Amino acid sequence: MRIVLDEGKCSSIGMCESIAPDVFEVGDDGALVVLAPEQPADRRALMEEAVAACPTGALSLAD
Ligand code: SF4
Repeated sequence: MRIVLDEGKCSSIGMCESIAPDVFEVGDDGALVVLAPEQPADRRALMEEAVAACPTGALSLAD
């Protein structure tokens, strides 16, 4: 699956990073970087958790 970030909606709060710091990183400039946008199927539950935790709805999953 692939993680899709809508940069226009992201407000760099970092909830996603707190759930999966190996995948999401808020940089020094405040911009979120998706370090590993392609994720294996066995990580779907964790990625769904990160998507659900985003308060601005900036994240989604594509198959
Ligand atoms: S939780 Fe949402 S708003 Fe916060 S950094 Fe992640 S994608 Fe951006």
